[in-house]
Amino acid sequence: MAKGLTTSTAPKPKLGQHFLASQPAGQRIVEALGDLSAATVLEIGPGRGALTTLLAARARRVIAVELDRVLAAQLRMKFAIYPNVEIIEGDILKIELNTVFGPKPGMTRPGLNFTPEPAHVIGNLPYYITSDILLRLLEYHRYFSTVVIMVQKEVADRVAASPGTRDYGLLSATAQLYARVEKLFTLPPGAFAPPPKVHSSVVRLTIEPRIEALQVPEAGFISFLKLSFGQKRKTLWNNLKTQYPQKILKEALAQSGVKPTVRAEALPLAKSAALYRALHDGKLV
Ligand code: SAM
Repeated sequence: MAKGLTTSTAPKPKLGQHFLASQPAGQRIVEALGDLSAATVLEIGPGRGALTTLLAARARRVIAVELDRVLAAQLRMKFAIYPNVEIIEGDILKIELNTVFGPKPGMTRPGLNFTPEPAHVIGNLPYYITSDILLRLLEYHRYFSTVVIMVQKEVADRVAASPGTRDYGLLSATAQLYARVEKLFTLPPGAFAPPPKVHSSVVRLTIEPRIEALQVPEAGFISFLKLSFGQKRKTLWNNLKTQYPQKILKEALAQSGVKPTVRAEALPLAKSAALYRALHDGKLV
């Protein structure tokens, strides 16, 4: 084989390229999205197409975003015969998600209104940017209904963690603010080629935002959570006092029944929201 060709198709560790080598695992991941016959699926990092192949046969429409130019070109050739599959060469962290779900070029008809249903998302994620991808998906949650992603096991534990446990943090709180989280199953390194150093878990997020139920404004509450979890070792009091006057903070903590000595990871979202409302709704701040 020509040297150039070998190099261009060899897995690139910097892009997190650990390709799924287990067909049954691929099947389980795709099945976790449920019935796809009427669905649009956004695939993140299709790689060599292990999941894309399964999706092409099941979904009404597949939009796959791959950063690696060579892989994207190969995928385009491989799926050229599938009218329901689009390969986009791009960075999932930068791509304009609101333009991705427009009508496929050549499929527009005058007078045809395009109102997309929320899409499903799937991906065996590149681990070097897992949290960034997850936070971006949550930020754009209005576009999505179900998200099934393979992530490093430790990240899955954090996303699904309950308040008061060691793993609960800003990522858990943010994910659980927007979605119902289920940890589905774990795969050993040998399920991938080349094998990563870590185990991987599949997580399903069913988008069910709790913002309205918690009666908080979205942007303000997200900033509040970031501040609450600001310094992991610090108490809630110490993190919040950097932004709120101490007298007001004391009153709001008492009003919402939160002890100043707790850390943010001990608070369920409902308690954080009660504290936020006590600080803001009562016009204390
Ligand atoms: N889905 C394939 C599979 O299961 O075999 C490949 C998974 S591999 C863990 C991650 C894939 O994401 C790679 O193909 C990599 O090139 C791609 N990737 C890395 N960074 C990306 C980014 N910022 N945007 C889109 N794709 C990216």
